[in-house]
Amino acid sequence: GDFAKDVDTLIIGSGPGGYVAAIRAAQLGQSVTVVEKGSVGGVCLNVGCIPSKALINAGHKYHDATHSEDIGIVAEKVSVNFDKVQEWKGTVVDKLTGGVKGLLKGNKVELIQGEAYFASENSVKVMDEKSSQTYNFKNCIIATGSRPIELPSFKYTERVINSTGALALKEVPKKLVVIGGGYIGIELTGAYSNLGSEVVVLEGGKQILPGFEKQMAKLVEKRLKNNGVSFKTEALAQGVEETENGVKVTAEIKGKTETFEADYVLVTVGRKPNTDELGLEQIGVELTERGLIKIDDQCRTNVSNIYAIGDVVEGPALAHKASYEGKIAAEAIAGEKSVIDYLAIPAVVFSDPELATVGYNEKDAKEAGYDIVAAKFPFAANGRALSLNDTDGFMKLITRKEDGLVLGAQIAGPNASDMISEVGLAIEAGMTAEDIALTIHAHPSLGEITMETAEVALGTPIHIV
Ligand code: FAD
Repeated sequence: GDFAKDVDTLIIGSGPGGYVAAIRAAQLGQSVTVVEKGSVGGVCLNVGCIPSKALINAGHKYHDATHSEDIGIVAEKVSVNFDKVQEWKGTVVDKLTGGVKGLLKGNKVELIQGEAYFASENSVKVMDEKSSQTYNFKNCIIATGSRPIELPSFKYTERVINSTGALALKEVPKKLVVIGGGYIGIELTGAYSNLGSEVVVLEGGKQILPGFEKQMAKLVEKRLKNNGVSFKTEALAQGVEETENGVKVTAEIKGKTETFEADYVLVTVGRKPNTDELGLEQIGVELTERGLIKIDDQCRTNVSNIYAIGDVVEGPALAHKASYEGKIAAEAIAGEKSVIDYLAIPAVVFSDPELATVGYNEKDAKEAGYDIVAAKFPFAANGRALSLNDTDGFMKLITRKEDGLVLGAQIAGPNASDMISEVGLAIEAGMTAEDIALTIHAHPSLGEITMETAEVALGTPIHIV
């Protein structure tokens, strides 16, 4: 055997869950070791949130350059140098992952490269190519994240790709088939269709973006259709045949078999938690049927010194939720009374227009027994949205009827991803529609939409009748 090393808090995984937990644990005086088998920053920084947003931005730049004749901008000879796009995307990722390494170091967190496997309730073995080292810990946080599901009839290859493959393509596909109309599939559809790909989306259900209200999903669908994307709903992807330089995908669509030829097929049908290769069964950590780790409201598993956060536990698989839980777990280990409260966790789709939601929507609020006001205001009535030439969308604010307490919001429109934070704050702080309406918002700004929607809730809007 090896000579075991002792640490206070051992964190497995350095994604937005793990690295944030590590920094908070260090701030609270713990000696912290993070074990990472892949790249620092996890899925989010390397093959998720950040590179996808970079590609989406590149798509916008190109699309705007070639689609702004209506406001008098006529661009000629605009082209995409995709090698350069990819190179730039890489520099964005490198800056951020380098930043995280620096933050870990600056907080005296030890970073170990290798794969962790539980040996007991108090120790893990960390293996790299050459050696294995045992670490004894007082407390451990599991933050091992998730990976794309692989369908048996769509084994991943050079041309049958998952989101990681889609972010690393060396060319803009002429034709792309996307299986799965969830947010990851739709964001990548938007990016590549803006960069010039002809995209077909095959969605098994009746609606793309199933987590969002139909009205919101429809706006995205309409914009993508205008861009030449075609949608097949209730489509069951059946199999793929690789041709010399492409793929032939077969799908059953409302009972009829159809084939689609493309350069690549992107499969984004969901993700599964990385909980199957950790030795959890040996130490008795309880999982749900879907393989997620069961936790209490302090992110503690049934083994009292082992915590779990992020994509390996229940709830939306989102980076900010992982980071939020990371802070709670680190604070719980330090003996603080922090507990998780998921009410104001936003969810965003970086589509055109962007979609964002936080707290309750109309249906959920009613189901939870609230008597509500659902106030709505269109982007088309906002000066900034008009001057941006980007007026598709609306904001809906859900408030409690008796006192105007803010319960939630849904936004479809440019910068919805940033606008949603104000409503998150309002929920978190227990504010009312009146509080938002009384807050002076800069003019002209998209933020005024939030103020006006609050005025709608109060029955006194200025800019619509
Ligand atoms: P991860 O980020 O998955 O990190 C887990 C880390 O653990 C990995 O680095 C892995 O190598 C390591 N690991 C696993 N097992 C071991 C082991 N045994 N030993 C050592 N290390 C191990 N979320 C958003 O909020 N906004 C977005 O815009 C967004 N866009 C996305 C776009 C795409 C294309 C994808 C795929 C995801 C996106 N997400 C987004 C989701 C987001 O990336 C995840 O929710 C987030 O990364 C989860 O964080 P995590 O810390 O739980 O795990």
